[in-house]
Amino acid sequence: MHAFPCGTPFLDFVGTLRARRNAEPTEMLASPQALDDWFVESGLMDVAPGADHAELATAVSLREALYSVTAAALAKEPLPADALAEVNRQATGLPVQVQLSDEGTTRTGSVSQGLATLAREAVEIVGGAEADLLRECSRPECTQTYLDRSRGRRREWCAMETCGNRVKAAAYRARRRSQNA
Ligand SMILES: [Zn+2]
Repeated sequence: MHAFPCGTPFLDFVGTLRARRNAEPTEMLASPQALDDWFVESGLMDVAPGADHAELATAVSLREALYSVTAAALAKEPLPADALAEVNRQATGLPVQVQLSDEGTTRTGSVSQGLATLAREAVEIVGGAEADLLRECSRPECTQTYLDRSRGRRREWCAMETCGNRVKAAAYRARRRSQNA
């Protein structure tokens, strides 16, 4: 099961390498099947695209390029040329296909269409006004980035249910310890 803490697909996709500054980050895209599951669980596609190993490598390459571009935008540094070229290259592909019927919307596509959709979203957001809303989760280990669209721009965590509550519980335990000492 994949997690979608931040609600912006391309940033949740970047987050599939969890705790990336740890010595041993957690790789959530460890197999083509995991990539298929990500596309369906994210809601980007209704039908798994049937990824193979080469497509998984392309997906990881895009993810790491998206991370480099996002991290640079977050630090207000120039965007790294190699990563930019990779994002722009994958953004040229056709996006996921949407079709309307009486049952609603059906989203289907290949892996490259799914990746193009993510790359295009990143281009629009990092290149647009919302780039100023990029934040990194306040739980240091997490490293998930998100867009702070909250009122007053006071969102501290990628997700309250996970990181916010973990940090608050740890602070509570620390207070209890110091009171008991
Ligand atoms: Zn977090």
